[in-house]
Amino acid sequence: MQDALTQQQQKLDSLQTADKQHFIHPFTDSKGLAEKGTRVIERAEGVYLWDVMGHKLLDGMAGLWCVNVGYGRQSIVDAVAKQMQQLPFYNSFFQCSHPPAIELAQKIASLAPKHMNNVFFTGSGSESNDTNLRMVRRYWDLKGKPSKKTIISRDNAYHGSTVAGASLGGMSGMHEQGDLPIPGVVHIAQPYWYGEGNGLSPEAFGLQAAQALETKILEVGEDNVAAFIAEPFQGAGGVIIPPSTYWPEIKRILAKYDILFILDEVISGFGRTGKWFAAEYFDLQPDLITIAKGMTSGYVPMGGVIVSDKVADVIKQDCGEFTHGFTYSGHPVAAAAALENIRIIEQEQLIERVESDTAPYLQSRLQELAEHPLVGEVRGLGMVAAIELVKDKELKQAFDSAVGVGTFCRDACIKHGLVMRSVGDTMIISPPLTMTHNEIDELVAKATLALNDTYEYVQ
Ligand code: PLP
Repeated sequence: MQDALTQQQQKLDSLQTADKQHFIHPFTDSKGLAEKGTRVIERAEGVYLWDVMGHKLLDGMAGLWCVNVGYGRQSIVDAVAKQMQQLPFYNSFFQCSHPPAIELAQKIASLAPKHMNNVFFTGSGSESNDTNLRMVRRYWDLKGKPSKKTIISRDNAYHGSTVAGASLGGMSGMHEQGDLPIPGVVHIAQPYWYGEGNGLSPEAFGLQAAQALETKILEVGEDNVAAFIAEPFQGAGGVIIPPSTYWPEIKRILAKYDILFILDEVISGFGRTGKWFAAEYFDLQPDLITIAKGMTSGYVPMGGVIVSDKVADVIKQDCGEFTHGFTYSGHPVAAAAALENIRIIEQEQLIERVESDTAPYLQSRLQELAEHPLVGEVRGLGMVAAIELVKDKELKQAFDSAVGVGTFCRDACIKHGLVMRSVGDTMIISPPLTMTHNEIDELVAKATLALNDTYEYVQ
């Protein structure tokens, strides 16, 4: 036993050393990482992860909001292996195609809102939003309105990490690095009632936040605006769910002006809200939907843009090339993984189960945490939620960021065998859609222990 532990420790030490010497991690403070040592995850099954030391962790984040069907799906492994043997790669440029990509495009069209029947494939959410930027500009050029170039987004949005993705996003920390956003991308305020509601009712605040879109369209000029981009609820921004008045007002504004609507469903797509797409959940009619993550449950990287008939008819008309695409657009192995992932979701009726059973149970159990002295608000929908930690519940007063309350709580979660992510002092939950009631109970029990530890820390 001791020997096994020593061996595991030696393995961890050598991995951490190599990691420190050679691996530049995304979104990571390298100094902090070097001091603490990276957490090395070695295997996973269902909703659980194991690190190299053998510690078992309940994955409250589905990897990174993506492993919708849970880990260890042999049928996805088999589908991928079979595709690798038959055709590991071919491109879809220059009038070429292959069965998995064709079948996947057709399948996604059947699941998407009725007016959306085409898919452009990419390798990630970021590439998909780059595609959106280029596609909406191409659309307006072909429509004879080349001045329509500007894209309106929102503060604290997350649309990826490439130059276009980070520009479309509204993360100030990302804009500070590398002179972003690029020209032609502007931002309006986010619909974050809990943090920025300023004493307004949620309904009044939702209207006000939506009306910022109209103000911005008028400021930039309708003839210069190509599109509005938004997540149905902001994920990486802290699971910010707009008040009920927000989306209807945005819809009214979008209907009034001739601009395109890009709905970024990289997190919300493929079942997280209890619908295939949050467009249905919020009754929205986007022109383009960004997809990735849950498309393959993260087993293989893949992303895409679901394109409405209105846009596809213009892009696909006889007007020369759309000079855009990626080597791995529609990659056959990724497409095979996506098809099997979707088959599992359908066969196990995961979306119906989320809507009628798992999500209501998760949300009601999480609401119990709202009573905790550290918790200002618990908010959520479907299989996604946020627990906002505050210094003073009554005054909704935040902690000084230097206290690092969210980071402490995240580490306390790990200590108790749970992965939750912290966005500032907001704890995020976005588990696999397969999570059972017992596993939800375990999640809530572990989160409570972590909250108690955190409460002691701030006293
Ligand atoms: N859009 C949203 C809403 C996301 O949450 C993410 C990633 O978290 C992205 C885009 C970028 O996706 P990727 O990391 O696959 O590039």
